[in-house]
Amino acid sequence: MKILVTGGAGYIGSITTAELVQAGHDVVVFDNLYQGHADAVHPEAAFVQGDLADQAALKRLFAEHRGIDGIMHFASYTLVGESMEQPLMYLRDNLVNAANLLEQAVAHDVGRFILSSTANLFDDPERMPIDENERIVPGSPYGESKFFVERLLHWFARIHGLRYACLRYFNACGDTPGRGEDHDPETHLIPIVLQVALGQRRHITVFGDDYDTPDGTCVRDYIHVVDLAQAHILAMEALDQLGSRKYNLGNGSGFSVLEVIETARRVTGHPIPHVVGPRRPGDPAVLIASSETIRRELGWQPRYTELEDIIRSAWEWHQAHPHGYAK
Ligand code: UDP
Repeated sequence: MKILVTGGAGYIGSITTAELVQAGHDVVVFDNLYQGHADAVHPEAAFVQGDLADQAALKRLFAEHRGIDGIMHFASYTLVGESMEQPLMYLRDNLVNAANLLEQAVAHDVGRFILSSTANLFDDPERMPIDENERIVPGSPYGESKFFVERLLHWFARIHGLRYACLRYFNACGDTPGRGEDHDPETHLIPIVLQVALGQRRHITVFGDDYDTPDGTCVRDYIHVVDLAQAHILAMEALDQLGSRKYNLGNGSGFSVLEVIETARRVTGHPIPHVVGPRRPGDPAVLIASSETIRRELGWQPRYTELEDIIRSAWEWHQAHPHGYAK
């Protein structure tokens, strides 16, 4: 298939692009390089630098790359904490950018769409692990903006016959030898912990130790980015047969912030000092996924089930690229 990947220079988008190319798909990457890196784009993918807010650029993209079979939409603002400080960046821009993309998708008869959605839809879960029947309570403007886009897709499916899958990721992490996580500023737990191990930071600050969890720190479900990428490919390939779908994607087990730090100490051999700071606004106490639906319907099986293996894959990339990508 010919797949348009928005955000294909970013962390999850670039690794998914590489997996798509390896699986024999033809890939066009569209990315504004706001957080992405040109070096992360697989050399066999066509790369177009542009912004989803720029409707003329999007029209040119679809005019120049005809015959797109499906879209994987990664490009968006993605930070819970930032969204609590700058809500319109999320509530407006993530929505408008997705609407611009969908307008062109429909105009060019692209019938398949995979959305990077989020576990931040589940701020107040009634059951743990969280399955697809859980009620939606966005935990932040970030989560709400993803819910807006899920609703856009619902209406585009009803009105235009689009087939879509929403993949609600829990905590994406881990790297591949060629591509890894490189944000500026970095806000995610595992890369920050590894920056301490590399001597680039003195300590990690744990955001709150007074949550209602066994050790008081937040519990998350950490899923390797290659397993996420494989889920995207399976979901895209199954859309024609199964129709639109929503899947929660995680490993099914939770680890606290302190357990992540402890595992990273074992993997790196570094003491990784930590200090406890205040809670980060927008963080729920526990998020653990049930991915039974995607396992059953698509036969998805995560390859990385052990946190230690996930952190090791990230440690290898961070040691080889201590300052991230060159560009
Ligand atoms: N976290 C932390 N210190 C940091 C970064 C993150 O204690 O410097 C915690 C954060 O509060 C959350 C977990 O680590 O409970 C995972 O956060 P991350 O930002 O990696 O992912 P998110 O859960 O926001 O998707």
